[in-house]
Amino acid sequence: MNTERPLLVIVGSANTDLVVHTPQFPVPGETRLGSAFQLSCGGKGANQAVAAARLGARVALVGKVGRDDFGQRALANLQQEGLDTTHVYQHPEAATGVAIITVNAQGQNTIVVAPGANHELLPADLDQAVTLLEQAAYLVVQLEIPLPTVLYLVAWARRRGKRVVLNPAPALPLPDDVYHDLFLLTPNETEAEALTGVPVRDADSARAAAQVLRERGVRNVVVTLGAQGAFLHTATYTGLVPAPHVEAVDTTAAGDVFTGALAVALTQNLDWERAAHFACQAAAVAVTRLGAQVSAPYRHELLAS
Ligand code: AMP
Repeated sequence: MNTERPLLVIVGSANTDLVVHTPQFPVPGETRLGSAFQLSCGGKGANQAVAAARLGARVALVGKVGRDDFGQRALANLQQEGLDTTHVYQHPEAATGVAIITVNAQGQNTIVVAPGANHELLPADLDQAVTLLEQAAYLVVQLEIPLPTVLYLVAWARRRGKRVVLNPAPALPLPDDVYHDLFLLTPNETEAEALTGVPVRDADSARAAAQVLRERGVRNVVVTLGAQGAFLHTATYTGLVPAPHVEAVDTTAAGDVFTGALAVALTQNLDWERAAHFACQAAAVAVTRLGAQVSAPYRHELLAS
């Protein structure tokens, strides 16, 4: 009998975030002195994987970094978080993905991402990871790796009867025939609007956008709505799951923590409402802390509910 916890396999990006705080953004051609510099591990795939692992799941990441210092750092960080990194490959030439982030005194940010090795994660790499993919209870993927690789994963999962969770971030147009192979889609407001053309602001508009996505064939849709919570349009439950009221200081990676946590809840067979509630609790803790991946809570830190 297999008594091991179900395995979550996350296929996605791992980046290094280079963050500089500055009183004001420079205008083109201008140099400004910033007040602090931070280097941290990020990338939507890695963020979701770390969030899920901290919440107690057994997690493997499939991704690609460079054979450079940032790549070593990213790998060491993922291992320290308890992830299986057997299939985090190192590209011999491409640099590890970086995000250059500036934050001004108002807390606004500008971000430029150089995807580097993330864009070298190819279908052949998934073939190499097939033994791992076969063990997955759920596959989780985002759009910071090449779209053909995402589509290859989804097609493979359809043939194998595996459930795919797609967090469609950053927003990209998707081919029509991918939707009916998705078990779950987790767009935020902007992404839901980009995919459907329906402006999403609240529960009613989220319902309308989710309806469009379900009509395209997605089995379950969860639209995240920031401080409002998440709107579920699923096979067994439709409605808003509100976010807990918290003092938000930094919402970076809230969506990643949400998707990671939701996937954990699914592996534990929680029903949709309870699963979304769990994800809202986890994301609410994350927004009360500075930083992206580092803000993901451990299970014992979840708010009592
Ligand atoms: P977003 O990507 O902004 O939609 O946020 C993802 C999830 O993070 C939401 O569905 C909420 O569960 C949570 N979240 C984001 N912002 C807040 C906030 N200000 N207060 C509480 N929870 C939040």
